[in-house]
Amino acid sequence: MILPNATLGVLGGGQLGRMFTLAAFSMGYRVAVLDPDPHSPAGRIANQHIKADYRDHAALRMLGDACAAVTTEFENVPAESMEFLEDLCAVRPQAAAVRIAQDRIREKTFIRDQGLATAAFAAIYEDADLVAALQTLHPPLLLKTASMGYDGKGQAGVSTLAEARVAFEQLGRTACVLEERVDLACEVSVIVIRSSAGRHAVYPVGENHHVNGIVDTTTVPASIDAGTAEHAVDMATQLAAALDYCGVLAVEFFCTRQGELLINEMATRPHNSGHYTVDACATSQFEQQVRMMCSLPPGDTRLLSAAVMTNLLGDVWGPDGPPWQLVFNEPQAHLHLYGKNEARAGRKMGHINCLAEDVAQACATTARIRQALSI
Ligand code: AMP
Repeated sequence: MILPNATLGVLGGGQLGRMFTLAAFSMGYRVAVLDPDPHSPAGRIANQHIKADYRDHAALRMLGDACAAVTTEFENVPAESMEFLEDLCAVRPQAAAVRIAQDRIREKTFIRDQGLATAAFAAIYEDADLVAALQTLHPPLLLKTASMGYDGKGQAGVSTLAEARVAFEQLGRTACVLEERVDLACEVSVIVIRSSAGRHAVYPVGENHHVNGIVDTTTVPASIDAGTAEHAVDMATQLAAALDYCGVLAVEFFCTRQGELLINEMATRPHNSGHYTVDACATSQFEQQVRMMCSLPPGDTRLLSAAVMTNLLGDVWGPDGPPWQLVFNEPQAHLHLYGKNEARAGRKMGHINCLAEDVAQACATTARIRQALSI
Protein backbone atom coordinates (compact mmCIF):
# COMPACT_ATOMS: atom_id res chain seq x y z
CA MET A 1 0.00 0.00 0.00
CA ILE A 2 1.16 3.51 -0.78
CA LEU A 3 0.26 5.67 2.20
CA PRO A 4 -0.17 9.43 2.82
CA ASN A 5 2.84 11.70 2.37
CA ALA A 6 3.89 9.72 -0.69
CA THR A 7 3.96 11.62 -3.99
CA LEU A 8 1.53 10.60 -6.72
CA GLY A 9 2.05 11.60 -10.33
CA VAL A 10 -0.46 12.46 -13.01
CA LEU A 11 0.09 12.79 -16.73
CA GLY A 12 -2.03 15.73 -17.81
CA GLY A 13 -3.03 18.83 -15.91
CA GLY A 14 -6.61 19.42 -17.08
CA GLN A 15 -9.72 19.50 -14.93
CA LEU A 16 -9.63 15.76 -14.30
CA GLY A 17 -6.06 16.06 -13.08
CA ARG A 18 -7.07 18.98 -10.89
CA MET A 19 -9.93 17.07 -9.24
CA PHE A 20 -7.57 14.10 -8.78
CA THR A 21 -5.05 16.45 -7.15
CA LEU A 22 -7.67 17.90 -4.79
CA ALA A 23 -8.76 14.39 -3.75
CA ALA A 24 -5.14 13.31 -3.22
CA PHE A 25 -4.43 16.43 -1.12
CA SER A 26 -7.41 15.81 1.13
CA MET A 27 -6.19 12.24 1.67
CA GLY A 28 -2.72 13.47 2.65
CA TYR A 29 -0.73 12.75 -0.52
CA ARG A 30 1.55 15.02 -2.48
CA VAL A 31 1.04 15.42 -6.23
CA ALA A 32 3.36 15.99 -9.20
CA VAL A 33 1.80 16.93 -12.56
CA LEU A 34 3.41 16.60 -15.97
CA ASP A 35 1.81 18.97 -18.48
CA PRO A 36 3.48 21.31 -20.98
CA ASP A 37 0.91 24.06 -20.35
CA PRO A 38 2.24 26.46 -17.67
CA HIS A 39 -1.35 27.43 -16.81
CA SER A 40 -2.79 23.92 -16.61
CA PRO A 41 -5.57 23.68 -13.98
CA ALA A 42 -3.85 20.84 -12.08
CA GLY A 43 -0.29 22.06 -12.60
CA ARG A 44 -0.99 25.36 -10.90
CA ILE A 45 -2.16 23.68 -7.66
CA ALA A 46 0.15 20.64 -7.56
CA ASN A 47 3.22 20.40 -5.31
CA GLN A 48 5.35 19.98 -8.41
CA HIS A 49 4.56 20.92 -12.01
CA ILE A 50 6.90 19.47 -14.61
CA LYS A 51 6.29 21.59 -17.71
CA ALA A 52 7.44 19.35 -20.51
CA ASP A 53 6.23 17.38 -23.47
CA TYR A 54 4.63 14.01 -22.70
CA ARG A 55 7.35 12.29 -24.74
CA ASP A 56 10.27 14.01 -23.00
CA HIS A 57 12.19 11.12 -21.42
CA ALA A 58 14.14 13.32 -19.00
CA ALA A 59 10.86 14.80 -17.72
CA LEU A 60 9.22 11.37 -17.50
CA ARG A 61 12.23 10.11 -15.55
CA MET A 62 11.94 13.09 -13.18
CA LEU A 63 8.26 12.24 -12.66
CA GLY A 64 8.87 8.51 -12.23
CA ASP A 65 11.71 9.09 -9.76
CA ALA A 66 9.63 11.54 -7.69
CA CYS A 67 6.49 9.40 -7.51
CA ALA A 68 5.41 6.17 -5.86
CA ALA A 69 2.78 5.73 -8.57
CA VAL A 70 1.63 7.54 -11.70
CA THR A 71 -1.78 7.79 -13.36
CA THR A 72 -3.18 9.61 -16.38
CA GLU A 73 -6.06 12.01 -16.73
CA PHE A 74 -6.48 11.76 -20.50
CA GLU A 75 -6.39 8.78 -22.84
CA ASN A 76 -4.42 10.45 -25.59
CA VAL A 77 -1.27 10.42 -23.47
CA PRO A 78 1.37 8.52 -25.48
CA ALA A 79 1.16 4.88 -24.37
CA GLU A 80 4.95 4.63 -24.89
CA SER A 81 5.39 7.25 -22.16
CA MET A 82 3.36 5.13 -19.76
CA GLU A 83 5.41 2.08 -20.77
CA PHE A 84 8.58 4.08 -20.10
CA LEU A 85 7.26 4.99 -16.63
CA GLU A 86 6.39 1.36 -15.88
CA ASP A 87 10.12 0.69 -15.46
CA LEU A 88 10.34 3.44 -12.82
CA CYS A 89 7.21 3.20 -10.63
CA ALA A 90 3.71 1.74 -10.42
CA VAL A 91 1.54 2.93 -13.35
CA ARG A 92 -2.24 2.73 -12.92
CA PRO A 93 -4.06 2.04 -15.17
CA GLN A 94 -1.56 -0.07 -17.04
CA ALA A 95 -0.15 1.25 -20.33
CA ALA A 96 -1.61 -1.76 -22.15
CA ALA A 97 -5.19 -0.78 -21.24
CA VAL A 98 -4.62 2.85 -22.24
CA ARG A 99 -3.13 1.69 -25.54
CA ILE A 100 -6.33 -0.21 -26.33
CA ALA A 101 -8.68 2.62 -25.30
CA GLN A 102 -6.89 5.34 -27.25
CA ASP A 103 -7.52 3.78 -30.63
CA ARG A 104 -11.12 3.16 -31.69
CA ILE A 105 -10.17 0.22 -33.91
CA ARG A 106 -8.29 -1.58 -31.12
CA GLU A 107 -10.96 -0.59 -28.60
CA LYS A 108 -14.01 -1.77 -30.56
CA THR A 109 -12.24 -4.92 -31.70
CA PHE A 110 -11.26 -5.75 -28.11
CA ILE A 111 -14.83 -5.15 -26.89
CA ARG A 112 -16.31 -7.29 -29.68
CA ASP A 113 -13.74 -10.05 -29.01
CA GLN A 114 -15.07 -10.26 -25.44
CA GLY A 115 -18.51 -11.04 -26.85
CA LEU A 116 -19.77 -7.60 -25.81
CA ALA A 117 -22.09 -5.74 -28.18
CA THR A 118 -21.06 -2.61 -30.11
CA ALA A 119 -22.63 -0.80 -33.07
CA ALA A 120 -21.70 -2.65 -36.28
CA PHE A 121 -18.41 -1.22 -37.52
CA ALA A 122 -15.50 -1.69 -39.92
CA ALA A 123 -11.88 -0.58 -39.69
CA ILE A 124 -10.92 1.80 -42.49
CA TYR A 125 -7.32 2.23 -43.56
CA GLU A 126 -7.75 2.82 -47.28
CA ASP A 127 -10.31 3.35 -50.00
CA ALA A 128 -10.85 -0.37 -50.59
CA ASP A 129 -11.99 -0.74 -46.95
CA LEU A 130 -14.71 1.86 -47.58
CA VAL A 131 -15.95 -0.07 -50.62
CA ALA A 132 -16.09 -3.34 -48.66
CA ALA A 133 -17.68 -1.71 -45.57
CA LEU A 134 -20.44 -0.05 -47.60
CA GLN A 135 -21.49 -3.51 -48.79
CA THR A 136 -22.13 -4.79 -45.28
CA LEU A 137 -22.98 -1.79 -43.06
CA HIS A 138 -26.43 -0.22 -43.11
CA PRO A 139 -26.57 3.57 -43.54
CA PRO A 140 -26.77 6.09 -41.99
CA LEU A 141 -23.14 5.72 -40.90
CA LEU A 142 -20.54 7.66 -38.96
CA LEU A 143 -16.89 7.86 -39.96
CA LYS A 144 -14.71 8.51 -36.90
CA THR A 145 -10.94 8.92 -36.72
CA ALA A 146 -9.43 5.97 -34.85
CA SER A 147 -7.34 8.17 -32.60
CA MET A 148 -7.21 11.66 -31.10
CA GLY A 149 -10.98 12.16 -31.45
CA TYR A 150 -12.94 13.30 -28.40
CA ASP A 151 -16.22 15.03 -27.60
CA GLY A 152 -17.58 14.27 -31.07
CA LYS A 153 -14.54 15.77 -32.87
CA GLY A 154 -13.09 13.96 -35.89
CA GLN A 155 -16.45 12.53 -36.97
CA ALA A 156 -18.63 12.82 -40.05
CA GLY A 157 -22.07 11.47 -40.92
CA VAL A 158 -22.15 9.64 -44.26
CA SER A 159 -24.64 7.49 -46.14
CA THR A 160 -23.07 6.67 -49.51
CA LEU A 161 -19.68 5.54 -50.77
CA ALA A 162 -19.17 8.94 -52.40
CA GLU A 163 -19.87 10.75 -49.12
CA ALA A 164 -17.65 8.33 -47.22
CA ARG A 165 -14.79 9.00 -49.64
CA VAL A 166 -15.14 12.77 -49.22
CA ALA A 167 -15.26 12.44 -45.42
CA PHE A 168 -12.24 10.09 -45.39
CA GLU A 169 -10.35 12.66 -47.45
CA GLN A 170 -11.41 15.47 -45.11
CA LEU A 171 -10.27 13.48 -42.08
CA GLY A 172 -6.83 13.27 -43.70
CA ARG A 173 -7.07 9.60 -44.81
CA THR A 174 -6.05 8.64 -41.31
CA ALA A 175 -7.18 5.27 -39.87
CA CYS A 176 -10.90 5.42 -39.05
CA VAL A 177 -13.84 3.35 -37.96
CA LEU A 178 -17.00 3.42 -40.02
CA GLU A 179 -19.97 2.50 -37.87
CA GLU A 180 -23.73 2.31 -38.12
CA ARG A 181 -25.58 5.22 -36.60
CA VAL A 182 -27.88 3.60 -34.06
CA ASP A 183 -31.39 4.69 -33.22
CA LEU A 184 -30.77 6.08 -29.73
CA ALA A 185 -33.33 5.85 -26.95
CA CYS A 186 -30.75 7.21 -24.50
CA GLU A 187 -27.07 7.09 -23.56
CA VAL A 188 -25.83 5.81 -20.22
CA SER A 189 -22.47 5.21 -18.61
CA VAL A 190 -21.07 3.00 -15.89
CA ILE A 191 -17.98 3.78 -13.85
CA VAL A 192 -16.17 0.70 -12.57
CA ILE A 193 -13.41 0.72 -9.99
CA ARG A 194 -11.10 -2.30 -10.14
CA SER A 195 -8.08 -3.01 -7.96
CA SER A 196 -4.90 -4.85 -8.92
CA ALA A 197 -6.19 -7.72 -6.77
CA GLY A 198 -9.33 -7.89 -8.94
CA ARG A 199 -11.70 -6.34 -6.35
CA HIS A 200 -14.25 -4.11 -7.95
CA ALA A 201 -16.96 -1.60 -7.12
CA VAL A 202 -19.46 0.03 -9.46
CA TYR A 203 -21.32 3.35 -9.34
CA PRO A 204 -24.99 3.50 -10.24
CA VAL A 205 -25.75 3.95 -13.94
CA GLY A 206 -25.81 7.58 -15.08
CA GLU A 207 -27.84 8.86 -18.03
CA ASN A 208 -26.01 11.28 -20.30
CA HIS A 209 -27.46 13.89 -22.56
CA HIS A 210 -25.02 15.21 -25.18
CA VAL A 211 -25.12 18.46 -27.12
CA ASN A 212 -22.77 18.73 -30.14
CA GLY A 213 -21.01 15.53 -29.03
CA ILE A 214 -20.20 16.93 -25.54
CA VAL A 215 -21.85 15.74 -22.33
CA ASP A 216 -24.37 18.40 -21.32
CA THR A 217 -25.97 16.67 -18.33
CA THR A 218 -25.67 13.43 -16.39
CA THR A 219 -28.71 12.32 -14.41
CA VAL A 220 -28.51 9.69 -11.69
CA PRO A 221 -30.17 7.27 -11.31
CA ALA A 222 -30.73 6.74 -15.04
CA SER A 223 -34.32 6.37 -16.25
CA ILE A 224 -33.73 2.83 -17.53
CA ASP A 225 -35.29 -0.34 -16.15
CA ALA A 226 -33.49 -2.38 -13.50
CA GLY A 227 -32.73 -5.24 -15.91
CA THR A 228 -31.02 -2.93 -18.41
CA ALA A 229 -29.05 -1.23 -15.62
CA GLU A 230 -27.89 -4.61 -14.33
CA HIS A 231 -26.90 -5.64 -17.84
CA ALA A 232 -24.84 -2.44 -18.30
CA VAL A 233 -23.07 -3.03 -14.98
CA ASP A 234 -22.31 -6.64 -15.96
CA MET A 235 -20.90 -5.58 -19.34
CA ALA A 236 -18.72 -2.87 -17.77
CA THR A 237 -17.31 -5.18 -15.08
CA GLN A 238 -16.67 -7.90 -17.68
CA LEU A 239 -14.74 -5.38 -19.77
CA ALA A 240 -12.66 -4.24 -16.75
CA ALA A 241 -11.87 -7.86 -15.89
CA ALA A 242 -10.92 -8.68 -19.50
CA LEU A 243 -8.43 -5.79 -19.42
CA ASP A 244 -7.17 -6.98 -16.01
CA TYR A 245 -7.74 -3.34 -15.27
CA CYS A 246 -6.51 -1.42 -12.26
CA GLY A 247 -8.05 2.01 -11.79
CA VAL A 248 -11.21 3.91 -12.70
CA LEU A 249 -12.80 2.79 -15.97
CA ALA A 250 -15.74 4.63 -17.54
CA VAL A 251 -17.83 2.70 -20.05
CA GLU A 252 -20.28 4.57 -22.28
CA PHE A 253 -23.32 2.81 -23.73
CA PHE A 254 -25.97 3.39 -26.35
CA CYS A 255 -29.47 2.19 -25.42
CA THR A 256 -31.29 1.72 -28.72
CA ARG A 257 -35.00 2.06 -29.37
CA GLN A 258 -34.90 -1.64 -30.30
CA GLY A 259 -33.89 -2.40 -26.69
CA GLU A 260 -30.23 -3.23 -27.32
CA LEU A 261 -27.40 -2.13 -25.07
CA LEU A 262 -24.22 -1.38 -27.06
CA ILE A 263 -20.85 -0.24 -25.75
CA ASN A 264 -19.80 2.97 -27.50
CA GLU A 265 -16.41 3.55 -25.91
CA MET A 266 -14.43 3.46 -22.71
CA ALA A 267 -12.22 5.94 -20.91
CA THR A 268 -9.31 4.70 -18.82
CA ARG A 269 -9.73 7.43 -16.21
CA PRO A 270 -12.41 9.26 -14.27
CA HIS A 271 -15.03 10.62 -16.63
CA ASN A 272 -17.14 13.71 -17.07
CA SER A 273 -20.23 11.54 -16.51
CA GLY A 274 -18.85 10.62 -13.06
CA HIS A 275 -18.51 14.17 -11.76
CA TYR A 276 -21.75 13.74 -9.82
CA THR A 277 -19.91 11.28 -7.53
CA VAL A 278 -17.98 14.15 -5.92
CA ASP A 279 -21.12 15.45 -4.18
CA ALA A 280 -23.64 12.63 -4.46
CA CYS A 281 -21.69 9.48 -3.53
CA ALA A 282 -19.95 8.13 -0.46
CA THR A 283 -16.63 8.19 -2.34
CA SER A 284 -15.79 10.32 -5.38
CA GLN A 285 -14.37 8.85 -8.58
CA PHE A 286 -11.19 10.88 -7.93
CA GLU A 287 -10.70 9.40 -4.46
CA GLN A 288 -11.12 6.00 -6.15
CA GLN A 289 -8.36 6.90 -8.62
CA VAL A 290 -6.07 7.65 -5.66
CA ARG A 291 -7.16 4.47 -3.89
CA MET A 292 -6.51 2.27 -6.93
CA MET A 293 -3.04 3.67 -7.63
CA CYS A 294 -2.12 3.27 -3.95
CA SER A 295 -3.34 -0.37 -3.79
CA LEU A 296 -6.05 0.56 -1.27
CA PRO A 297 -9.42 -1.22 -1.48
CA PRO A 298 -12.19 0.46 -3.52
CA GLY A 299 -14.24 2.98 -1.52
CA ASP A 300 -18.00 2.76 -1.00
CA THR A 301 -19.79 3.73 -4.25
CA ARG A 302 -23.22 4.22 -2.65
CA LEU A 303 -25.41 6.98 -4.10
CA LEU A 304 -26.46 9.25 -1.22
CA SER A 305 -28.74 11.46 -3.27
CA ALA A 306 -30.29 11.77 -6.71
CA ALA A 307 -28.21 14.15 -8.81
CA VAL A 308 -28.03 16.08 -12.06
CA MET A 309 -24.61 17.24 -13.24
CA THR A 310 -24.55 20.12 -15.74
CA ASN A 311 -21.40 21.03 -17.65
CA LEU A 312 -20.45 24.68 -17.85
CA LEU A 313 -18.88 25.48 -21.20
CA GLY A 314 -17.11 28.70 -22.11
CA ASP A 315 -20.19 29.68 -24.12
CA VAL A 316 -21.97 30.90 -20.95
CA TRP A 317 -19.18 33.30 -19.99
CA GLY A 318 -19.96 36.99 -20.58
CA PRO A 319 -17.32 39.69 -20.03
CA ASP A 320 -18.00 39.63 -16.25
CA GLY A 321 -18.44 35.86 -16.01
CA PRO A 322 -21.74 34.14 -15.22
CA PRO A 323 -23.95 35.43 -12.36
CA TRP A 324 -22.71 32.89 -9.80
CA GLN A 325 -24.82 34.38 -7.00
CA LEU A 326 -27.87 32.82 -8.69
CA VAL A 327 -26.21 29.40 -8.39
CA PHE A 328 -25.19 29.95 -4.75
CA ASN A 329 -28.79 30.94 -3.95
CA GLU A 330 -29.74 27.29 -4.56
CA PRO A 331 -28.77 25.33 -1.40
CA GLN A 332 -28.73 22.01 -3.24
CA ALA A 333 -26.43 23.15 -6.04
CA HIS A 334 -22.66 22.69 -5.89
CA LEU A 335 -20.45 24.74 -8.20
CA HIS A 336 -17.10 23.37 -9.38
CA LEU A 337 -14.83 25.62 -11.46
CA TYR A 338 -11.60 24.39 -13.00
CA GLY A 339 -9.51 27.57 -12.79
CA LYS A 340 -9.02 27.94 -16.54
CA ASN A 341 -7.90 31.42 -17.39
CA GLU A 342 -9.65 31.76 -20.74
CA ALA A 343 -13.26 30.90 -21.58
CA ARG A 344 -13.76 29.70 -25.15
CA ALA A 345 -16.86 28.31 -26.85
CA GLY A 346 -17.07 24.56 -26.23
CA ARG A 347 -14.31 24.61 -23.57
CA LYS A 348 -15.20 22.84 -20.33
CA MET A 349 -14.86 25.48 -17.60
CA GLY A 350 -16.68 23.80 -14.71
CA HIS A 351 -19.82 21.95 -13.74
CA ILE A 352 -22.69 22.13 -11.29
CA ASN A 353 -24.07 19.20 -9.32
CA CYS A 354 -27.67 19.59 -8.20
CA LEU A 355 -28.71 17.12 -5.50
CA ALA A 356 -32.22 16.25 -4.34
CA GLU A 357 -34.34 13.50 -2.88
CA ASP A 358 -35.41 12.45 -6.35
CA VAL A 359 -34.48 13.08 -9.95
CA ALA A 360 -37.53 15.29 -10.61
CA GLN A 361 -36.48 17.75 -7.91
CA ALA A 362 -32.84 17.73 -9.04
CA CYS A 363 -34.05 18.45 -12.60
CA ALA A 364 -36.21 21.34 -11.34
CA THR A 365 -33.23 22.98 -9.58
CA THR A 366 -31.10 22.38 -12.66
CA ALA A 367 -33.73 24.02 -14.90
CA ARG A 368 -33.80 27.15 -12.70
CA ILE A 369 -30.01 27.41 -12.79
CA ARG A 370 -29.81 26.85 -16.54
CA GLN A 371 -32.31 29.62 -17.06
CA ALA A 372 -30.39 31.95 -14.75
CA LEU A 373 -27.13 31.23 -16.58
CA SER A 374 -28.79 31.22 -20.04
CA ILE A 375 -27.61 27.69 -20.80
P1 AMP B 1 -18.19 9.50 -29.48
O1 AMP B 1 -17.08 10.49 -29.65
O2 AMP B 1 -17.99 8.27 -30.27
O3 AMP B 1 -18.47 9.20 -28.03
O4 AMP B 1 -19.50 10.20 -30.03
C1 AMP B 1 -20.03 11.38 -29.43
C2 AMP B 1 -21.55 11.32 -29.44
O5 AMP B 1 -22.03 11.21 -30.79
C3 AMP B 1 -22.12 10.12 -28.72
O6 AMP B 1 -22.20 10.32 -27.33
C4 AMP B 1 -23.49 10.01 -29.38
O7 AMP B 1 -24.38 11.00 -28.88
C5 AMP B 1 -23.17 10.35 -30.83
N1 AMP B 1 -22.84 9.10 -31.56
C6 AMP B 1 -21.61 8.59 -31.74
N2 AMP B 1 -21.64 7.41 -32.40
C7 AMP B 1 -22.94 7.15 -32.65
C8 AMP B 1 -23.64 6.09 -33.30
N3 AMP B 1 -23.00 5.06 -33.84
N4 AMP B 1 -24.99 6.16 -33.38
C9 AMP B 1 -25.66 7.22 -32.83
N5 AMP B 1 -25.06 8.26 -32.21
C10 AMP B 1 -23.72 8.24 -32.10
